[in-house]
Amino acid sequence: MVVPAARIVFDENDRAAVADAVTEILSTGALTLGPWTQRFENAFATEHGASHAVALASGTAALEVILRTVGVRGRDVVVPAVTFYATAGAVLHAGGRPVLADVDPATLALGPDTLRAALTPDTAAVVLVHIGGLITPDVDALRAICDERGIPLVEDAAHAHGSSFQGRPAGTFGLAGAFSFYPTKVTTSGEGGMIITESAELRDEARIYRDQGKGAFTANHHVREGASWRMSELNAAVGTVHLRRLKEFVETRRRVARRYDAALADLAGIEPITEPAGCRGNYYKYVALLPHGVDRARFKQALAEDHGVRLSGEVYDLPLHHQPVFADHRGGPLPVAEDVCARQICLPVHSDMTEDETDQVIEAVAAVHRRLAG
Ligand SMILES: *Cc1c(COP(=O)(O)O)cnc(C)c1O
Repeated sequence: MVVPAARIVFDENDRAAVADAVTEILSTGALTLGPWTQRFENAFATEHGASHAVALASGTAALEVILRTVGVRGRDVVVPAVTFYATAGAVLHAGGRPVLADVDPATLALGPDTLRAALTPDTAAVVLVHIGGLITPDVDALRAICDERGIPLVEDAAHAHGSSFQGRPAGTFGLAGAFSFYPTKVTTSGEGGMIITESAELRDEARIYRDQGKGAFTANHHVREGASWRMSELNAAVGTVHLRRLKEFVETRRRVARRYDAALADLAGIEPITEPAGCRGNYYKYVALLPHGVDRARFKQALAEDHGVRLSGEVYDLPLHHQPVFADHRGGPLPVAEDVCARQICLPVHSDMTEDETDQVIEAVAAVHRRLAG
């Protein structure tokens, strides 16, 4: 049996619900900015305890629109070095300068000290990323540092559908949260993104930006440098149907993670990134650091070839300051980011993962650990 690196879960009921929705959408001809988009926005806002939600074409567009609304052009935006390209890419698209910051090794997120070290007199915004769906217990301290200086905190919550800290959902800790519905994310719309916010003003701006900067849906005057960032009704239907499964998916993923926690505790030198007190993560990824000196490529190869266990991609194997495209934004060395990127692996977690699959992963990791790290 092979445990795949990723599995996208739409059961028969969900496929039928999407098929019905597609038939309806094609028969009415309302293909964009229609009732399904509104339904998806309302359901997503409710799920995350937010007052407003705006659906967009991608998570990257969601981030860019928030940053454009804040107004970061020509100014600095703090971004952790341990994140996906798009977090810093959105800053560039919005005309800002990413300032890459180091991270806390316990959470892979910005910490109060790494944030302070990256602030400049011209910081326009700070982007916090919930790596693997885990929310740092420092989130309120980070917010306080931003508030003291009047800098908006933005969440890149692309990993964090349904995650919470002290009962407060991802996306609600700062000015706004940006989510992605790329196929690998915990719930998907095929492609898509969502902004959630308490700010009615930001909601209105986001609606303008996503539709070519038009002042109104039917008007032809353009008041912002917007773009084609709408979500199609077809994607909104897929996203609405999938979102109904979020709680169940998170339960399953958390059950798998508890088994991995227990198993990895017995393996000398392996350091799982564990959930801090108060955090209830969605386990978009289960991250663990290999012991120093263990060859990650060999470890992964042995898991795949000898045990049929394929690991998903890391989050992330190269810190952003080492990505060629950010060469101009390279500050000093960021030692924690470099270390956690070099040593991490992500064990497979699927929204419908079986006990047998979980057992197979645990046995495989223990066997390869004995051979390569014992
Ligand atoms: C997936 C992802 C994004 C981008 O989302 P898209 O929908 O692919 O544009 C942004 N940030 C992080 C951390 C992501 O994982």
